Amino acid sequence: MKIVLLGPPGCGKGTQASNITYKYSFPHISTGDIFRENIKNKTPLGIKVKEIIDKGCLAPDELTVELVKDRLSKADCKDGYLLDGFPRNLFQAKELDGFSAPDLVLNIKVDLNKIEKRITGRRVCTDCGGSFHIDFIGDTATCPTCQGKLITREDDKVETIRKRLAVYSEQTQPLIDYYKRQNKLRDINGDLNIEGVFLEIVKVLG
Ligand code: AMP
Repeated sequence: MKIVLLGPPGCGKGTQASNITYKYSFPHISTGDIFRENIKNKTPLGIKVKEIIDKGCLAPDELTVELVKDRLSKADCKDGYLLDGFPRNLFQAKELDGFSAPDLVLNIKVDLNKIEKRITGRRVCTDCGGSFHIDFIGDTATCPTCQGKLITREDDKVETIRKRLAVYSEQTQPLIDYYKRQNKLRDINGDLNIEGVFLEIVKVLG
């Protein structure tokens, strides 16, 4: 099955994507992760997008679309995929429909007033890439999984979060109507705890 995960920054897309991949084995493709990996390795792509991403803006559409098109052409995607963070606007959604239209779009709905707190408490591991919240692990700098170093993502700083939320409202939210019209949208209550959200997803995916 071809699935798109939709939702504002900090709604738990990454966490639920890991849960879905574990249970259903669709390859998890996160454009944000791909960009971050390239930034970490200082590749030409990483150098090109670092400043844009640090400011909370979107990377150029053509570049992002090509990246996803190329990734979806790989053998592991032939039976489906789980796209996380793509498409981010109508242009990208229409492009995706042109080369690999999704079957289902899971729209993780959360109270936008709680997002800032959710994101500022997020810590990511520079070694294993794991993502954690200080409400669960405390304010530690050590990764509970691999003992690597935990940091706050550059684009998780308060000013950048506000920019990212504005970009979401302007550019990504219109996708909700776009996929509703195609009868592919399924709403998921993202204000439940991690297990609760996942149970809602399982109810939809079967
Ligand atoms: P994420 O981890 O999905 O929140 O993505 C982090 C950042 O990567 C975003 O704020 C954008 O700057 C960039 N990014 C991720 N996915 C896309 C996309 N589909 N189109 C453009 N920029 C993206």
